[in-house]
This record gives sequence, structure tokens and C-alpha cells, in this order.
Amino acid sequence: MPRKSKAIFVPSRPGKKDMKPDKTTPMMAQYMEIKEKYSDYLLMYRLGDFYELFFDDAAAASGALGLAKTTHHTTYMGREVPMCGIPHHAFDAYIPRLIRRGFKVAVCDQLETPEDAKRRDGSKAVIRREVTRIITAGTLTEDSLLPGSLNNYLAALCFSGGIEPKAALAMADISTGEFRLASWSADAVHELRSFVARSAPSEIIVPGSMLEDKKFNPFVAEFKDKIVARPEAFFDPIGAGKSLCALFGLASADSLGSFSELEFGAIGALLGYIKLTQIGALPKLARPRREDGGDFMHIDSFSIRNLEVFEGSGGGDAPSLFSTMDRTKTPMGRRLLKGWLAAPLTDSAKINERLSRVEFFRSDMRLCDGLRGILSRAHDVDRIMGRLGLNRSGPRDLKNISETLAIAPEIRILLADAARGALDSPLSAMMESIAPMDDLAHELEGALVDEPPLLVSAGAFIRPGFDPTLDGYRRLNEDSRGVIAELQARYSLDASIASLRIKYNTLSGYFIEVPSAKATPLMDPKSGFRHRQTLVGSVRFTTPELEEMEHKILAANEKYQALELELFRGLCADVMARAADIAALSATLAELDALSSLASLADENDYCRPAIDDSLAFEIRAGRHPLVERALRRTGGAFIPNDSRFEEAADDGGATGAPEKTDSRLWLLTGPNMAGKSTFLRQNALIVIMAQMGSFVPAASAHIGVVDKLFSRVGASDNLAQGLSTFMVEMSETAAILNMADERSFVILDEIGRGTATFDGLSIAWAVLEYLSKINRCRGLFATHYHELGAITGKLGNVTAHAMETKEYEGDIIFMHKVRPGAAESSYGIHVARLAGIPRAVTERAGQILETLERDGAKGHAGRLAEIDLFNYSAQPVPSKADEDRKTERLAARLREIEPDSLSPKSALEILYEIKNLLDNT
Ligand code: ATP
Repeated sequence: MPRKSKAIFVPSRPGKKDMKPDKTTPMMAQYMEIKEKYSDYLLMYRLGDFYELFFDDAAAASGALGLAKTTHHTTYMGREVPMCGIPHHAFDAYIPRLIRRGFKVAVCDQLETPEDAKRRDGSKAVIRREVTRIITAGTLTEDSLLPGSLNNYLAALCFSGGIEPKAALAMADISTGEFRLASWSADAVHELRSFVARSAPSEIIVPGSMLEDKKFNPFVAEFKDKIVARPEAFFDPIGAGKSLCALFGLASADSLGSFSELEFGAIGALLGYIKLTQIGALPKLARPRREDGGDFMHIDSFSIRNLEVFEGSGGGDAPSLFSTMDRTKTPMGRRLLKGWLAAPLTDSAKINERLSRVEFFRSDMRLCDGLRGILSRAHDVDRIMGRLGLNRSGPRDLKNISETLAIAPEIRILLADAARGALDSPLSAMMESIAPMDDLAHELEGALVDEPPLLVSAGAFIRPGFDPTLDGYRRLNEDSRGVIAELQARYSLDASIASLRIKYNTLSGYFIEVPSAKATPLMDPKSGFRHRQTLVGSVRFTTPELEEMEHKILAANEKYQALELELFRGLCADVMARAADIAALSATLAELDALSSLASLADENDYCRPAIDDSLAFEIRAGRHPLVERALRRTGGAFIPNDSRFEEAADDGGATGAPEKTDSRLWLLTGPNMAGKSTFLRQNALIVIMAQMGSFVPAASAHIGVVDKLFSRVGASDNLAQGLSTFMVEMSETAAILNMADERSFVILDEIGRGTATFDGLSIAWAVLEYLSKINRCRGLFATHYHELGAITGKLGNVTAHAMETKEYEGDIIFMHKVRPGAAESSYGIHVARLAGIPRAVTERAGQILETLERDGAKGHAGRLAEIDLFNYSAQPVPSKADEDRKTERLAARLREIEPDSLSPKSALEILYEIKNLLDNT
């Protein structure tokens, strides 16, 4: 269960009288002071090599991480202090688990060494500690903490209530620097839900008053696990202007565009929260990119889930549309592809432009594969730049930038070759955006060793030869190691102790160590050795010569480290100076990756380029469901393709004399369960999404007039998480469609009305279909197993009946998975029940009841049904458990006799009939 607003135990701050040593230690007093400021967070307090949590934080963390809780040797106000610690080197492994459980973490670091503290304040000094960072789900930056290679957005929302609520949303991914802005003045709640659902931010900051506003109830209910409420003052429009100016180094925010008061409020909260969590530091963000809701297809969260766009219905690793489509080679490309899928376009020219780019690669798969090979060497430069902006990068980050810069010329050559003779190739503009950065690539290449460490503190990452002064310190270091070795050899010889060693540790520095048995002669002051320490089995000494050498070595080491750090900072500054060029390169690599991934997908699966225009056409020939097709292929099955074709009525008043087209925007699809209705419905919706995101589609051909809103609903699906009953969910979701869908929308409704009694359900389904046909006039597919609905089609001009083809064979039903014109004659529910293994007595009894109902109608016939029950039902013997067991035994015996390897196909079929016979007749 996500934990949001936990009550964390914070004992009242120690007063002066509590500060006596027997009440608490100075360290605990420091802890309490910091904890008081960060009471909403789990406080991780650095103590040596551990991050420690105390009091209720310890209980919460030990529960969440499965760690042992202990007690600290100190007491606080007479109470033992419970504690739980994690080693600092395991920090990255534990933090994501805490964040996933809904905790926010404040990291309190030591800002000085124990030696510094002692020098400052004597032996009782407390090390200076401060919170250096707050970690929340929406403000992660380290690769190791981030969820995969997908975007991690933090969103802030500002709204004005009333009859026509308005809303503005500012959103940033601080790990990549992306910054987006959107606002809505009409239908704010629906549009907002759709936008947030497809962007999937990890945290959403909202004003506290939104939680009370009824109009926003559905939004709050849907995203409650992500919402962080803040007081109104946090959404400060004036502060936002100032923060924007500071962020982009501008005198006025006007040059970024004009922002409404609500937008400024949202930006203010977003930047304020980032500053709060990054302890004042603002990461480098790109200029805000405004997203007009109308540029993208509206798909609400329910449809995204129902169509398994990002998550398969089986949860976990179950395949989704995205995972099925994704062939990208870089994290940037993967994020972009996901963004495209989350926001299919509505401008036909832009869709066709993207499709042409995909086609460019699709038509030259050698070029496409070559490009993908190069791209696989690119690193996640966006995230690296994000870390650089926050001073959290390391030497390996710079190396990865240099390796990514180095592939740019290769790509430029590859694309230039491919574009030769086609100056207007769809990629010409893209090639221009790859600015040459060879100078920076060379500088980084020359500066860094081949395999630099992750962290600066590990040292030794500057390549020898890059800086003469650093080389000098390095030589001194290396030489001194030689001098120490020489010294050891000399002392060993002079003292005639072969086992004499010169050793080093951080606490004592350099010392001479000899076994205790050999130490006596060295104890004599005249020996030149000075005693330092006696241990079990060994004695340690020093000499003035060794002390002087140590001083020189440490000084050289310190200088080496300081200079290496300075050089590192210089390299970082050089990289940051080219931040805009690097961002442009990264954007180009991402786009090339996403396009070539789509081309590769189309090539692998034989997808076609859809024709997209502004008509209301919808014509798919031999369409397939990308996920079901893939699943069937894995088990050796074949997917049966199906056509769908809606036609607009010709509106020329018969002037052209052309045969009048039938107006058929809605298909009523009937057929039994398991016949493939849902698959057919979904495949059409998925084809629309894929086409408008710029992908080729699983079909022989497709012609689609741009869809602006897409709705997908399935009857009777619970949403208990939002506290709504099955039927209530079904009806409120249907209501949203009827209120929003228009001529440009595409709607799939699957078994609407299923969640209530038959006649209620049938009537609702009937009325909904009528409304869609007459008022919404949208394109869509309406699937039902109420075959009675077939009667409606004659009455509604633009609805045509289609059915899933089935065949009956010896009383059983065979699904052909083929869509044909006309209505299903029967629901076949009882046949399907039999297939599912419902006992024969039950299905036969159901058959009798159905017969009576169909003959006499349902109303008032409960008595008749009861009669059948008395006279007929009891006559049907229900097979006993013993009968069933005997049957199973016989079957098992027959199966054991069979040797599958020696069977011909014909005899296999015969045996199948025989087994079926055994099943039915014994
Ligand atoms: P229900 O109403 O019970 O959900 P349905 O009519 O909607 O049934 P589907 O769930 O779409 O049926 O399909 C049932 C199964 O049939 C699918 O899981 C799939 O394995 C198979 N199937 C559906 N369509 C096809 C097809 N066109 N080609 C091959 N197999 C298919």
C-alpha cells in the first residue's frame, strides 16, 4: 500500500533542561533539531559509514526494507532510541524501495570530517550536518534511482473552480531537463485527466483547495497516490516570474511567451518544489514547451488502460502495445517513442510528415539497421546533462558524453550518403541540427582515462599527459612510493629484521611495523626509531625521516586531488557551455531512434503505411491486433485478419449521378463470447492510435480520417480502487462518452449494459446506440451479445449490423474469428458455457429455460420455469462423483496407450474423435 501522509513520531524539540548529558547527547540534540524541520520526511542521518534512521522513521524504514531495528546506545528523554541503519554504499539500492512505498526522504550528510570538527570545537565536537537533498518520486536524478529509461515527471497544477473550471499544468523531468506547459479553459477536468493519464507524472502538486472542489473529485480520486497538496501561497505567480528569469538568465519572463495567471501559479509551484527538494539548486531546464490540448488525440486513462497501451492487463511484464512496438536503442529514443504513443497527433500534415520519415528508413532497411547499430552506442545524454546541472555528475558521465558526441559524425556521414540525390529527403532538416562538436569530443577524449570511475572521489580519472602540473604531482606520488619502498629495504637491513614493513592507514598515517619478538632493539632511543604503539603480536614505530616523507606525500596527494577536481569542474563547465548543442543532438538521436524503431517494427511484422487525411473515412483492410497476433505467433497460431469500413453518405444531392454511398459510421457487432468481438474492437482502436502517432499499422491497407478523441469502454469492469461499483463505473464512463464524442471521434463500446439485469441492460444498450448514431454521429464499433439489438439497425440509418462468424458442428460451436455483414441469430451463451466445462446437467437445464423464455417471453413465467423444474429437471440424472472418476480413469488409460510420435495426422484426428466420444457418452 502506498504510504502518503504518515504520522511520523517527532518528540517535542529538546528544551534547555533536556540538553543535560543524561537526557540526550549533543548529537541527538542536533538530530532532533534537523528532524523538526523535516518532519514530513524520513530523515536519513549520516553517522560514519551509515545512514541512520531514528524513532518512528526507524520503524517505518525497517518495515519497508525488511531491516532489523536496534536501539542506539543513547536515550532521549528517558526513552531508548530505536534506530535502523543502511550502509552508505547501499543507499542507491534502498532508496527506490522507500520511494516506491510512497515515502519522501531527507538526506542529512556530514559536511566535515571528524578531524575538522575536533579541530574546530575540541574532542566533544559534533560534526556539522545538514540536509543536502530531499528525494521524492518526482525529483529523482540518478540513473540508479530512476524507473527504467522512461521519463520521470513532476507536475504542478493550478486551477480556478466555478461552473467552468479552468486549469494549468506545468511539468518537468528534472533528470532530462524537459519542461512542459498546458492549460485548459473548457472541459478542464476531462482534458486534464486525459493529459495527466498519458503523461503519467510521478508526483502532482496541487493546491489544498482542489481536494475540496467537487468538480475535481474524479481527478483527485484517479491520481490520489501521486498527489501532494500544498497551501495556496505555494502557487505564487509573482515568484514564478522571478524564478523563470533566474532560471534562464533573463531580465523579463516575457521572452519565454505570455503566461496566464494560472500558468504562472503552476510554474511557481513546480519550480518552488524543485528548489525545496534540491535544497536551493535549480537544475538546467529547457524553455517551457507549450502543449495545446487540440494538437493531440484525446484518450482518457480508462481507454489507455483498457487498450493496454502502456501496461498489459496481466500486470508486471505482461505485453503492452508499447512493449510490443518498442525497438529503440537509446533511452532518449525510448522516452520519445513513449511520448509519441501517449499523444497521437491530430494534424494530418504532421502525421504524414512523421510517416514519411518512417517510410524513408522502411524503404532502406540496410540504412536503418546501420543507423540502429550506431545508435546502440549512444548514452543517455539528457540525464547526464540533468546531473551536470545539479553538480551530481561524475567522470564516467563525461566519458559517456564524449562517446555519444563521437558517434554524431558517423551518423552525419551515414545520413548524408543516404540523402544523396534526394535533397529534399525527410531527414535533411534533422541532419542540420547535428552541430559539429568534435572539439569538445576531442577535449573529453584526451582528458579522461579509458574507463573512468563513476564518482569524482575515486580519483585517478584524468589521463596522463593531459595536464603537466597534475602529471608532476602524480610523479611525486609514484616516486614517493618508490622512496618508501627504498626506506623499508634500508630499515630492514639496518635493523636486521627481514619482516619489517612500512604500512599506511587513514587513522595513523605511515608507520613501521615489526613482530613483537623483534621489537626490543628498536625500543632503544639510540636506534633512531621512535615507539608509537604496541599491539598484540606487533609493535609500531616511526622515524623523523618517515614523518617528513609522509608530509611530502600527503601534500602531493592533496594537491593532486585538488587539481584533478579543478580540471573536472573545468571539463564540466566546457560541457555545460555546449548544453544547447548537446540537447539538440540528443533530440535528433532520439528522433532517429524512434523513427528507425518504427521502421524496424513495420519491416518485422509486415505493417503498412496508413493513409491519413482530414476526411471522416475509416477503411481498414485485413486489420490485425498487434498484441494478440504476437501471442498467437508464439504458440504457432495464426491471426485471422478482418476488414472494417465505415462510409460517409454522399452529400451531393445526387448531382453527380454517382451511386449513393450508404452512411455507415457505426457497426453493431454481435456474436457469442469468445468469438473475437473484443479483439476486433480493440485492434481498430489500436490501429487508429498507431497511425496517428506516425507508425505503420498491422493491416494490408488503412485509410483513416483524423480522429480527435478516442474512447474505449468495456461493460461491467470494476473500479473498486476509486470506490465505485461495477455498474456505476460502466454508466459514468458511458455518460462521459455520450457527452464528449462528436463526428471526429472514434468510439468502441464493448458489452455496454452487461452490468445489470437483462432487460435493463438491453434497453440501455439500445438507447446508447441510438444516441451515438443520432446525436454524437461518431465513428465506432458497438459490440454486444444481445443479438436482439440487431433489430435496431434497420431503423438507424448510419448503423450497420455485423456479426462474428461461427459454425455449429454436432451441437458444438466453432469460432471462425471472421467478421461478416448481418446479425448473429443467437447468443450461443449456453454453447460457450459448455465449452468452458460447466456440468452438462446445468447447460441442459439452461437450454430448457431458454427455450421456455424464447417461446413465452420472460415476464411472469417464473411459475412455468418452476414447473419444468418439478417435472423435468429432476428427471435428468446428475452424474455422481464416482461416475466422473470412472470416466476420468477410462480417459487416462486411453491417453496412456497413445504414442504421439508414431501417429499419422489422420489417426491423431480419429483418436481425437474417439476421446471426445468417450467424454460425451460414458
Ligand atoms: P468475450 O465477450 O468473452 O470477451 P469476445 O467475443 O470479445 O469474447 P475475444 O476476447 O475478442 O472474444 O477473443 C477470444 C479469443 O479468441 C482471443 O483471446 C484470441 O485468442 C482469439 N481470437 C480473437 N480474434 C481472433 C482472430 N481474429 N484471429 C485469431 N484468434 C482470435
